[in-house]
Amino acid sequence: MIKFGVAGNSNSFYDEGYKHTYQAADWCKKRNLDLFEYSFGHGVNMSLETATLIKNSFQDSNISLSSHAPYYINMANEDPLMIDKSIKLILSTIEKSLLMGSKRVIIHPASQGKMDRKRAELLMLDNIHRLSDVLSESNFSNDLILCWETMGKVGQMGTVEEIIEICKIRDNFYPCIDFGHINAREQGILNNPQMYNTIIQKLQENLKKDKFLNMHIHFSKIQFSNKGEVKHLTFQDELYGPKFEPLAGLIAKYNIQPWIVCESDGTQAEDAIIMKNIFENILKEDSNCL
Ligand SMILES: [Zn+2]
Repeated sequence: MIKFGVAGNSNSFYDEGYKHTYQAADWCKKRNLDLFEYSFGHGVNMSLETATLIKNSFQDSNISLSSHAPYYINMANEDPLMIDKSIKLILSTIEKSLLMGSKRVIIHPASQGKMDRKRAELLMLDNIHRLSDVLSESNFSNDLILCWETMGKVGQMGTVEEIIEICKIRDNFYPCIDFGHINAREQGILNNPQMYNTIIQKLQENLKKDKFLNMHIHFSKIQFSNKGEVKHLTFQDELYGPKFEPLAGLIAKYNIQPWIVCESDGTQAEDAIIMKNIFENILKEDSNCL
């Protein structure tokens, strides 16, 4: 089922006096949100006690959980020891995610470094095959899926095409399509509905049906320069985009059931609800037309 949620706690959560992520379950429920993405972006540290608190509160409130792996993972590093480190970080993110009841782990694949693009891609794919072997040898649960994210900076790996190649490696590798990142990397390309449709069609044609229909989505407006992403904005932005309306129309048209995480800068709860309302209005209009 389609879900709308937040990346981390918004300013309004803290302004209302809340402090802890386990409190976010009830808070999200009251705001009609369906999903919360927890960030291990700066490190995988969480006690069993905290993980259990989070698991129980989110289960009680019926709010789904995903989690974000550390930002410094790099599967295109030329040093095999650094690849071992990245694989260990992914495994420990999975371990904590299972403890806290998270069903999806989101990963930034790699950076290009000084290599040319094709060489970086081949090295990244080779190392992700290695990760897949390690996952097969571990008792890694296939209930949990790993979502590889499209990235916003020109020097990062993770174009739509590269993410499709990663998804072919393993059954539980899915795409995390970050439309703000795509728009930022490609200098504002998502300024018309046709470009959204081109991306959605490419995903439909190249991914297994289940991966297409249950893709993960990140959405926010993002400031960019000629090198791509500069910073996340809020839905107040009128300059950079992208707009959610054309995507909402395509999600309804293709009957996709994504988990959609809003990554606005501080207003992610409010902006996630704006997206949910836009989508529900499209469904209402569609049913009025029948
Ligand atoms: Zn991310």
